[in-house]
Amino acid sequence: MNKNDLFTLEITDMGTDGEGIGHYEGLTFFVKDAIIGDVIGARCTKLKKNYGYARVEEVLIPSPHRVKPKCALHRRCGGCQIQAMSYERQLKFKNQKVFQNLVRLGGFNEDTVRSLMLPIIGMEEPYRYRNKAQFPVGYGKDGEIVTGFYASRTHTIIPVEDCLLGVSDNEEILFRIKNWMRLCEIEPYDEETGRGVVRHILLRYGFTTKEIMVCLIINAQKLPHREELIDVLSGISGMTSISYNINREKTNRILGDETVCIWGQPYITDYIHLKKIPSEEDYNRICDDAAEVQNQSYCAPFAETDEAIAYHISPQSFYQVNPVQTEKLYSTALEFAGLTGKESVWDLYCGIGTISLFLSQKAKQVYGVEIVPQAIEDAKMNAKLNGIENAQFFVGKAEEVLPSFYAAGNRGSEGKKSEMLHPDVIVVDPPRKGCDEKCLQTMVEMKPKRIVYVSCDSATLARDLKYLCGNGYELKKVQAVDQFAHTGHVESCVLLTRVSNRKIHP
Ligand code: SAH
Repeated sequence: MNKNDLFTLEITDMGTDGEGIGHYEGLTFFVKDAIIGDVIGARCTKLKKNYGYARVEEVLIPSPHRVKPKCALHRRCGGCQIQAMSYERQLKFKNQKVFQNLVRLGGFNEDTVRSLMLPIIGMEEPYRYRNKAQFPVGYGKDGEIVTGFYASRTHTIIPVEDCLLGVSDNEEILFRIKNWMRLCEIEPYDEETGRGVVRHILLRYGFTTKEIMVCLIINAQKLPHREELIDVLSGISGMTSISYNINREKTNRILGDETVCIWGQPYITDYIHLKKIPSEEDYNRICDDAAEVQNQSYCAPFAETDEAIAYHISPQSFYQVNPVQTEKLYSTALEFAGLTGKESVWDLYCGIGTISLFLSQKAKQVYGVEIVPQAIEDAKMNAKLNGIENAQFFVGKAEEVLPSFYAAGNRGSEGKKSEMLHPDVIVVDPPRKGCDEKCLQTMVEMKPKRIVYVSCDSATLARDLKYLCGNGYELKKVQAVDQFAHTGHVESCVLLTRVSNRKIHP
């Protein structure tokens, strides 16, 4: 086998991002865009000692799980990795990924995990789910202004007028902004030379309020022709906030530090509703085998409630991108927390307080910790907006705030209340790298009755659960949620309860 060789490959497995895996002449090949069950004409693109990468040249025998993707650009665009896989199979893949990570990396017993895993929560409509889109702006081949997405692993812009994961209003907004740029002779930013003005267009949409936010990220101190821009955008139904953000640095970071609102409000408002999660009978009615996926019917039992939290979202705020699934995820986290109104709860990695504010309505007191100061400002403002007074927020690293707080409390120095040192529940929702061990260690020392772990990476989740379950906790429930349809990502929510008084770190 040499690089560029063409060969026939049967895809028998899937990698962590949903890529196809096949074996040929003792080598394992990873093939983007190949679906488990396909037989393909493969072209070797990279060769290592025991494995290699290949490209799909031709699908010889399509997998029964292969579907015609809705987006013609799915292979070139870096956004959707598994759009050619049926949605049912995507969900099964994601559930299996969580399962396998818990078994292989977490060291949990297969049968135990199988019995604890609830069926994955899929989407009823797995397109048009994103409330946020960031389009790079540049020149196309013919010198015209284009907006789109970066091709996989590059900064080449693929012109996309209408991404099917985003809301359909985006197309009209992009069209108008490009027109404005042409008419006012405003140049897109060029990454090579550092010249030009418009770098990115950030669009946000409040699913429940239908409010629209437009933010142009520019390489200039001031937005040129702002009145003309306001003229072309302000008439769009739902337009609520128009701003620009200044980023003059040669960096991959999209947003700079300063945002200037030029029309409307500096934020949009959105609501997250609490849902009633399915009962045990609901689960049993839907699927016999809990580890199997029953997508469409499984979406149904999430009943509406009239409880909701309002959030102000500014261009720089972190906010979950899939609002429909976020409601199901947070409602699950809240259910797992098992609150009656008497509990004290820590919410670590709290962002703008999204989960904290939900918890605070059912708990006595909530303490949120987050590393980004601006997010904590947003969290405090959102608490006020909802008239919530029993949520308190701290800026800092969870692995520093919690241990120093606990140590100070134990010395009795800062008069910390025992309910803060020994909360009933700790909720964590860390970024992909998971929790720092110092944070996990303090969590164990604080001895909460329950730990609810919300995770966007089941590999680090499994690693952290191994630690917690080696230190007095027991795995109770595992719920995977599909927040990112057509990508390889999966979100999970896990409940742990305390079983022993064993003190590991005396
Ligand atoms: N629970 C929130 C945010 C989850 S995203 C929500 O659902 O909206 C993870 C958050 O952890 C981000 O806001 C990130 O800024 C924050 N973060 C990252 N590292 C951290 C650390 N070491 N300590 C505390 N927060 C951290």
